[in-house]
Amino acid sequence: MSNNPVQFNEDNRCLARTRKGKSAFCQARKVTGKKRCRMHGGTNDGAPKGNKNAFKHGRYSREVIEKRKSVMKFKREFMELLRIIKNKDKEKPDLSLV
Ligand SMILES: [Zn+2]
Repeated sequence: MSNNPVQFNEDNRCLARTRKGKSAFCQARKVTGKKRCRMHGGTNDGAPKGNKNAFKHGRYSREVIEKRKSVMKFKREFMELLRIIKNKDKEKPDLSLV
């Protein structure tokens, strides 16, 4: 065992918020290598990957979130293309975006 006590500063405080307010953090020391103290899940690895215990509809599942992002990206690109086509007569289109 080391004789050097662990430095207790802002860097090794738990990042869990308290009911005192948004900027009020837990005062306990975080578990080494984690962001939370032992009372706020620092020693807990969480549910195993692929766990479906609380699965309801899948709206927030990784696959659906990624699909939603790609659809929104496609929509943004399509709307930009539409804007370019609509403004074709007014100004010269910037085809580098397409
Ligand atoms: Zn804590």
